[in-house]
Formats: sequence, structure tokens, C-alpha cells
Amino acid sequence: QGLFEYGTLGGMHGNAARNMIPVKNYTTSTWTIDEEKWKKFGAEYIRETFPGRRNSCWACQIHHCDMITITEGPYAGEELEEPEYEQFASWASAIGQEDVASAMMLSKEVDQLGLENNEGGWVVGFAMECFERGLLTFGDTGGLDLSWGNAEGARLLLNLIAKRQGLGDVLADGVMRAAQAIGNGATDFAIHTLKGNTPRSHDHRNRWTEMFDTCVSNTSTLETWGGPIALGGTPPWNDLVAQNLRDKGAMMLEDSMVTCRFNTNMNVALLSRAVGAATGWDFSEAEGWQAGRRIVHLLRAFNVRHGVAGRALDRPSARYGSIPDAGSGKGVTLVAHWEEILDMYYRGMGWDEAGKPLPETLKTFELDNVVADLWGDA
Ligand code: SF4
Repeated sequence: QGLFEYGTLGGMHGNAARNMIPVKNYTTSTWTIDEEKWKKFGAEYIRETFPGRRNSCWACQIHHCDMITITEGPYAGEELEEPEYEQFASWASAIGQEDVASAMMLSKEVDQLGLENNEGGWVVGFAMECFERGLLTFGDTGGLDLSWGNAEGARLLLNLIAKRQGLGDVLADGVMRAAQAIGNGATDFAIHTLKGNTPRSHDHRNRWTEMFDTCVSNTSTLETWGGPIALGGTPPWNDLVAQNLRDKGAMMLEDSMVTCRFNTNMNVALLSRAVGAATGWDFSEAEGWQAGRRIVHLLRAFNVRHGVAGRALDRPSARYGSIPDAGSGKGVTLVAHWEEILDMYYRGMGWDEAGKPLPETLKTFELDNVVADLWGDA
């Protein structure tokens, strides 16, 4: 009912209750915000205050992706697509910005610049922490005030990034490479996997299933849902890996069929029946899983061949894997078990200890033509 009525608008309050929203570049896991301002990030307030018109994808009944108008504050009158949870998280808590309408403005700005909201939020939050620590000065920013929560500062910085001007030229390479360029310890608080991608706008230190999946994924974002609700925020590491292995392939099958996650819900039985209905083939659920997992192995093989996957890279940066100050992960970190986790995961996937698909695995998934690329004449 929540998703059907409100899309992902319930995400800010729901995730904050479990310390899962990103707060000021992970400097804390608890967002301290005035109660009245916080209410405005609730689904009901947004729907009541910012009138919209339905803009859903074809035939979709879910109340999602409305076109809305900002009705309060300095950006009143602007029309935009209603932000998702991750856009609100990126342009509010992740950068310490407390005004819901300003978060909407930044979400629209990112869309218009052709950038991505999760990545944008992390890179702006990272720059704000650099500014707070004195690693970036007014001289570096061209006079921009990058204090936490400065929405106009964030907007101008996003424009510099999109145009690769000034500091924007450094930040346009993403958090990992920007931290390496800035130096002076900036890599200590840069949030990314060691492949270089940033996570979704959550505090994954209290959502281990997603941290693990983001780190081993071949797509720079989630590859497997992993069951965070069923397992809890910080489950035993072997349960987490087992569930990831069990679900592996469902998202890939769904994505390859270009259906919406919120409608087909990674239901492999349903998706397989849909393949049969559309093609007339006798296509079983087992074949659906086989097709989805084949995609995972193929993506992995591609990334290994291009040097962007493997044991050294399938892991979080220091800040990404750090210990949070609140939530179910308080005082602990999944990183303590990372080598055992990778061992279990690689074994379960049929990959070698370096994270490379074994020849017999590739052949099982009818990827015989890929074997020579990875293993020569094996
Ligand atoms: S199809 Fe998916 S993305 Fe499109 S409006 Fe429906 S729920 Fe939203």
C-alpha cells in the first residue's frame, strides 16, 4: 500500500528510523534536524503540499513519478518530477541540507544537468567535508561556500562539475579519483567501492546486505536485492552471503526484460511465464534463473578482462566500511569478515579465489565462447 500510494516517498522517515539514511558523508548515522522541518520530508506532507499530476509509465497503476510544482520557499513555481527517496536523501541528509523544497530544486538541477543523483550527493557531501576540514578552501572552490547544507553552493558546484570547470573538473572524475587528486588524507573519508563507484544513498553500515552486494556487483549498483528486510540490517555474514547467492540472477533477468522492479518485483517465476507468453516458448522458471545468472557471469567475465573486478576491488573504502555511531551496526563492521565473505561468495558463484569465473562455470552457463578470453586454451 505504501509504495502503491506514495512511491518511495516513505523512504526518508522509514530508513531514518533504522539509521539507514546517509548523514553528512557518514560522519554520523543520526540526522539531527528540527522536528517541523523533518515532518516535511514525510510522504503525506509532500503529497498535500506540492500538487502534482500523474505521470506514471504506460499502464502503471503505481502513484509514482508525478510531475509536481514547488509551492513554498525561494523555488516556488518550479515544476519537476517528484523526487525519489534517494534524491531526497542525496540532497538533504547526505549534505546536511534541511529544506525539503531545496532538495527538490537540487534533484531537478541534477536531472537537467544530466548527472546522477546518488553519485552527485556523495561527491558534493565529500567536497563539503573537505571544505569543513580545510582541505578545500575558498581559493580552491572559486569563492563558493561549501558549508554543510548550503543548497545554492551545491547547485553551483553541480554546474561546475557538469561543465568540468574549476574544482568541478576534479570532482567530475567521481569521489575516489577526486580524493586521490586532493590528497592530504582525503581518501580516508571518501565513500566508494574500490572499483570506484559510490553506493546508493543509504547508510549501508546499517544495511550490510546492500554494502556487500554493492561491493561485489558488476554493475556499479545493486546486482541482487539480498533480503534486507527479512534478514535485518546487520545479519550474520554467512546468512547474508547465502541469501545473496540464492537470489543472484533475478535482477539481471528482470532488467534484461525491461520491466519495472516495482511491478514484477524480481519474481522469476512470473518473468519466466512472461517470456513464454511473449515468445510461445516453453520457458521454465529454472531457465529464467539460468538466463539471469548467465548475465551475471558474463558481466563478471567482461569486468575481469578489463581489470575492474577481483578480490582487491570487491570491497569498500575505509569510510564506506567504517563503524557507525548508531543503528544496528553500532560498534561493528562487516569488513572484519571480508576475506571469509569473499571466499564463501566466490566459491558459491563458481569463481576462483581471485573472483574470476572458472572454465567449468562458464561452460555450465553456455558461455564456452568466453572461456578462451579469460583462461586461454583451458
Ligand atoms: S513503471 Fe515503475 S518507474 Fe514507471 S511509474 Fe510505475 S513504478 Fe514508477
